[in-house]
Amino acid sequence: MQLNRRLFIGSTFAAGAMLSAPVVFGQAKPRVVVIGGGAGGATVARYLAKDSDGALDVTLVEANPIYTTCFFSNLYLGGFREFESLQHGYDKVAAGGVTVINDRATGVDRAARTVTLAGGQVLAYDRLVLSPGIDFRDGSVPGWSADMHAEIMPHAYKAGPQTQLLKSMVEAMPEGGTFAMIAPPNPYRCPPGPYERISMVAHLLKQKNPTAKILILDPKEKYSKQALFEEGWGRHYDGMVEWIGPEFGGGAVEVRPETMEIVVDGEVQKVDCCNVIPGQMAGAIAQTAGVTDESGWAPVHPDSMKSKADDNVFVLGDSSAQGDMPKSGFAANSQAKVAAMTIRADLTGSKAFPAKYTNTCWSLIAPDDGVKVGASYEPTPEKIASVDSFISATGEDAALRKATYEESLGWYAGITADMFG
Ligand SMILES: Cc1cc2nc3c(=O)[nH]c(=O)nc-3n(C[C@H](O)[C@H](O)[C@H](O)COP(=O)(O)OP(=O)(O)OC[C@H]3O[C@@H](n4cnc5c(N)ncnc54)[C@H](O)[C@@H]3O)c2cc1C
Repeated sequence: MQLNRRLFIGSTFAAGAMLSAPVVFGQAKPRVVVIGGGAGGATVARYLAKDSDGALDVTLVEANPIYTTCFFSNLYLGGFREFESLQHGYDKVAAGGVTVINDRATGVDRAARTVTLAGGQVLAYDRLVLSPGIDFRDGSVPGWSADMHAEIMPHAYKAGPQTQLLKSMVEAMPEGGTFAMIAPPNPYRCPPGPYERISMVAHLLKQKNPTAKILILDPKEKYSKQALFEEGWGRHYDGMVEWIGPEFGGGAVEVRPETMEIVVDGEVQKVDCCNVIPGQMAGAIAQTAGVTDESGWAPVHPDSMKSKADDNVFVLGDSSAQGDMPKSGFAANSQAKVAAMTIRADLTGSKAFPAKYTNTCWSLIAPDDGVKVGASYEPTPEKIASVDSFISATGEDAALRKATYEESLGWYAGITADMFG
């Protein structure tokens, strides 16, 4: 075991701060199992393996051999990206010292500290990290269920074949047809995501089907970057997009997938393409592990991302209930670094620094018209709290908007390299 002199000295400096229970000095390597190889999980696995100099045994369990990013999937819908550019394998994660298992985790025994996989394998852990993303709340949109209707009215909110299906359906719309989006209630993955998607669908339709209409049925009174999106839709897609909030029936929607109808406040309307983004909750394995509460999300300690239900379990990204950070890939990546530092400190005695988190969410409205919102965050006893935030302004000049879009391209290249190597 390479619990070397540097790590040992680090542990003495960290005394009192993070040295509650170093597990196995002089024994077999401490084992960390990570479930979910997305934004949070791939990052934490890579950082644990890289920064522990081989002192930790890190296993990543991911259901799919290839990860397709939701981030930038709207740009694929708009014709700004190739689908393949969203896809990332795990070869470099494995080359970095992580054991990658492509299987689905089906059970967690927190008392025995084991994870069971669909293939029958049982993995023991000293620390478990859960970053399984979101699952859908069945029944949140009356008439729609993920199992029965996602091929007719796609969600495209877990990227992959669903994203391709949605694009082909938009392209197949009849001239002058209607695209409807059923927007999700709070809290959900990527607050500006539905509205960036509307912008990209509008961009696509403007070129191929300019008399088509877009309806957004929204249960929320207001939404992320609202003024920026409304300004952009007026400027680029005048008259094409109609937003119907709860006051006008946006929160009382039923869908009839078999007849391609939506029922808004009792009134039936035929549509040609319907994107249902249902209500969400923590990924199923977090529920199975028993670390979620009645909200459906998993509460964590703001200074570490450690589960409030179990000191040996960490929850990252969308599944966690942490405070002010949005459910974004950037946020999950940022949280993963804090968790990796804490786990190393717990298991090897390395030094832990005070947690800091950051996030920025970019959205493309039209070619070279990018906007952003972001913040930095620090833990308080209650939550991860926003300490400093910024947002693009309405009326910005074209050069600034272009620069903002270009910044987002750099961000995507950088963050996917950080996650997947
Ligand atoms: C349309 C859209 C646009 C977005 N745009 C942005 C953006 O511009 N910027 C941004 O920062 N974020 C964006 N996001 C949000 C971002 O995709 C998520 O917040 C982020 O992926 C969350 O990371 P995560 O690790 O929690 O989950 P994920 O990245 O979803 O990873 C979860 C992984 O866990 C795996 N998994 C789940 N359960 C199991 C199991 N039982 N066993 C094994 N594996 C399992 C899944 O296969 C998946 O690979 C967008 C999202 C959408 C839908």
